[in-house]
Amino acid sequence: MTKIINSKELEEATLVKLTERGVDLEKIAEIVYLMQKNYNPNLTHELCLDSVKNVLKKREIQHAILVGIELDVLAERGALSEPLQSLIQEDESLFGCDETLALGASFGYGSIAIMTLGHLDKQKIGQIKELDTKSGEIHTFLDDLVACIAACAAGRIAHQQRDLHDSKLLNTPV
Ligand code: MG
Repeated sequence: MTKIINSKELEEATLVKLTERGVDLEKIAEIVYLMQKNYNPNLTHELCLDSVKNVLKKREIQHAILVGIELDVLAERGALSEPLQSLIQEDESLFGCDETLALGASFGYGSIAIMTLGHLDKQKIGQIKELDTKSGEIHTFLDDLVACIAACAAGRIAHQQRDLHDSKLLNTPV
């Protein structure tokens, strides 16, 4: 019998998987800070962390994370069939499904998230670089998913700041 997962269970399952795979939300917040600090003089680490946590409440993001991590874990166990096993295990440079999954999940946060994701894909920084270069574990999908979370959190902050600015001008609550 299939189990119906409620949104709270899905969020918790996603956070558990990320933790199990060594992802640190504080480190993702550091990336968000670097991506947005030039546009927002009042930006704080806490605001970035809050944005990361909010992004992780979104179902499409959760689904992408669960799919990507599962494929990484199955590849680590040698449990996939060929040729997919080798493609993911070797992080084949032309594979591209890891980036495509991250890209698709980022669409909900607009063009700033998409452009930031492209930037992070090229300039792997912080935890993205750590995951990309970590030996002994397979993070073919996870590095892109971390970039996706950071990019979405950055896009979210950019739009929120504008809303805040506009509400002050109009003297209306956000
Ligand atoms: Mg990758």
